[in-house]
Amino acid sequence: MKIDVELKKERRTEPFDSDDPLTFASERTDHIFYLDGKVNPSGQVAWTNPRIEPYAEMKGIMPGAVVFHYGVEIFEGAKAFEHPDGDLYTFRLRENAERLNRSSAALCMPAIPVEDQLQAVNTLLDIDRLWSPRQEGASLYIRPAVIGVTDAMGITSGTDFRFMVFASAGGAYYAQGFNPITLLHSHDFKRAAPNNFGMSKAGGIYGLTVRHVLEAKKKAEKAGFNPNDVGQVLYSSVDGKFVEEAGAMNHYCVTKDGTIIIPEFTNTILDSITARSFIEEGENALGREVVQATIPLEDFFNVIKSGEVVEAGGLGTAAVVSPVGTYLVDQGEGDLEELVVGDGGVGPVTQQMYDWLTGVQTGKVEAPEDWLQKVPRTA
Ligand code: PLP
Repeated sequence: MKIDVELKKERRTEPFDSDDPLTFASERTDHIFYLDGKVNPSGQVAWTNPRIEPYAEMKGIMPGAVVFHYGVEIFEGAKAFEHPDGDLYTFRLRENAERLNRSSAALCMPAIPVEDQLQAVNTLLDIDRLWSPRQEGASLYIRPAVIGVTDAMGITSGTDFRFMVFASAGGAYYAQGFNPITLLHSHDFKRAAPNNFGMSKAGGIYGLTVRHVLEAKKKAEKAGFNPNDVGQVLYSSVDGKFVEEAGAMNHYCVTKDGTIIIPEFTNTILDSITARSFIEEGENALGREVVQATIPLEDFFNVIKSGEVVEAGGLGTAAVVSPVGTYLVDQGEGDLEELVVGDGGVGPVTQQMYDWLTGVQTGKVEAPEDWLQKVPRTA
């Protein structure tokens, strides 16, 4: 793929050295990558016009584009880290590219060759590499997305698509340190019905969850808890029987014997690359058993109470590992039961998980083969 590049006139010329704590993914880099897709009447797709241009308002999309009306959009989230050798490394990016195509398929959008996606990200990061923040725990957060741009009022994914990739510089997710959050569970909040697109990163799902978090905070406040402690919602399956996701993260818990348990990936749970990293390498790297299982919701709450489960949390690209200290469980009629996990603090397994994965990502701990790819220097 030959990418046309139009550089921003006033782009970053100095390394991003900052002592001010940066919030997560807060600063857009100078450029954005675009690729246009068109599906012909026989269903073949042509991806054309690969280009990098200054990051700015998007042009050339009609107000009737299906992305604005029917949520024809999917996205990804990946990270790149500057290592002590001064080079930038992406973390398991190929897996994000493959998942992007699975998400696209769920919304009847065409796949983009994985090699083209990788080239797009690498070229963009190479051009914007000075944006990589030099700060403990900092990274470049990479946001690929695909949108449907056909101007159509009938409900369709259309024939025209745009792939984009932009990046943001930001500090560690935990600016105030690695503190446990509270997850609120209520049967009032459901994320994904079976056989739809719960296993994909369709933007529509995330729009829906905004209201859940706000309402969860209100429930907490009404019941006399601090609403600011409620970070996310613990989602259970639509039938209310099983543990699914920790907001926009996979969920994990740790039993007394140190086994890490992650819900089995189903079509209502995202196949998380962070979770997979522990599933694939946890035993080697942490000396701990990592299993996937179907986790009955009521059993889960009971084993927290009995002390059988001693740690829990969420797993995802943004936060890596997010410890949960407390669950608030909606019992109806405004009543929330408070369940404290272990001693409510950051447990040793959680700390070990966090230290290992962030160590791998930042080049301080040896990485499993193919997990890190150096961004080639061509610009
Ligand atoms: N579950 C949901 C719903 C998510 O949005 C994410 C974040 O992308 C994850 C889990 C974690 O996935 P990953 O580890 O690939 O970032």
